[in-house]
Amino acid sequence: MKYGVNEKGYYGDFGGAYIPEMLYPNVEELRQQYVNIINDEGFKAEFDDLLKNYVGRPSPLYHAKRYSEKYGANIFFKREDLNHTGSHKINNAIGQILLAKRLGKKRIIAETGAGQHGVATATVCALMGIECVVYMGEIDMARQAPNVSRMKMLGATVRPASSGSKTLKDATNEALRDWIGNPVDTHYIIGSVVGPYPYPDMVARFQSVISEETKKQLLEQTGNELPQYVLACVGGGSNAMGMFYHFLDDEDVKLVAVEAAGKGVNSGESAATTFLGQEGVLHGSRTILMQTPDGQVVEPYSISAGLDYPGIGPQHAHLFKVNRAQYTSITDDEALQAGLLCSQMEGIIPAIETAHALAQLEKMTFKPEDNVVICISGRGDKDLDTYIKYFNF
Ligand SMILES: *Cc1c(COP(=O)(O)O)cnc(C)c1O
Repeated sequence: MKYGVNEKGYYGDFGGAYIPEMLYPNVEELRQQYVNIINDEGFKAEFDDLLKNYVGRPSPLYHAKRYSEKYGANIFFKREDLNHTGSHKINNAIGQILLAKRLGKKRIIAETGAGQHGVATATVCALMGIECVVYMGEIDMARQAPNVSRMKMLGATVRPASSGSKTLKDATNEALRDWIGNPVDTHYIIGSVVGPYPYPDMVARFQSVISEETKKQLLEQTGNELPQYVLACVGGGSNAMGMFYHFLDDEDVKLVAVEAAGKGVNSGESAATTFLGQEGVLHGSRTILMQTPDGQVVEPYSISAGLDYPGIGPQHAHLFKVNRAQYTSITDDEALQAGLLCSQMEGIIPAIETAHALAQLEKMTFKPEDNVVICISGRGDKDLDTYIKYFNF
């Protein structure tokens, strides 16, 4: 694949594994085994079976009629919101738990910010009867109390990270410390296309089912497996990578990645990484991130917890740099309005993350015959409080 990872773990200038020496054995074990395990027929059969009968795949490709009229093109929604647990995150969690089992691991750790990835991880650990420890910043635990309860209900242990800013970064440090201390029996499930190689490639492969299905569904519904445009929101970039994956080499398909501008790209409260960031190292890979001139990571901001991340995965950094995909950003206000519009025009309440991708439609012009696919990465139930406060329902 032209835009895929090379044998050294890089996408152009980005990627690699920038990790402390003590983590090397863990990451090296994964690197040596992941491709063989994922390509094994037995693995594929179990993965496909769970995606079908547990997650509920294939997720529908829905031709949104009223949106199509409004925007003057054929607009299709790829419905990841209908998955078990309400977003695309479960695809990756299922893939990694099956991989962990085949590596002989008896224990799973994860870190979570908003709690969504923690819930997906706790879910698959319950499914497999494997011990699960989720690290979460103390402040995030207070902000996202319902997700903490969900994880506990699912049988996971939630450990507070109480150092530093008590948020995602500190939870990540705690999880890494745990992994260094438990290299033999523990697998670390990362929730997006970020982290040291091989994680970005591994997660992209698990999420690529999104575009694999979309191609078939488009062929069935339109007679052509290739659309003119594909849109997705980007936090770390896993739903977007899954949505882009099987279209990457079809250069006529325009890929649009939508980041969170927060209160505006120049407001100082933003998560628009490609606009504000520079090249550097974040969470174990060389990528683009928001940082100060002396290399301190800048605290990102977005109203949507899932997009509130100071970087993007290394493959996205590459697609941005070589111009294969267009990177844009949408403000909190624009996203919330788009979430309301989608609710009232299509009867689908989207996650606020997803609403960023939907808002991008307002900024584009189409030809009537264009086919446009948007990844509906998740449902908005988790965001009702935010919508209610904003619109005063
Ligand atoms: C976590 C999340 C995202 C952002 O994560 P990516 O890795 O960029 O996909 C987007 N949408 C929803 C619904 C999420 O839960």
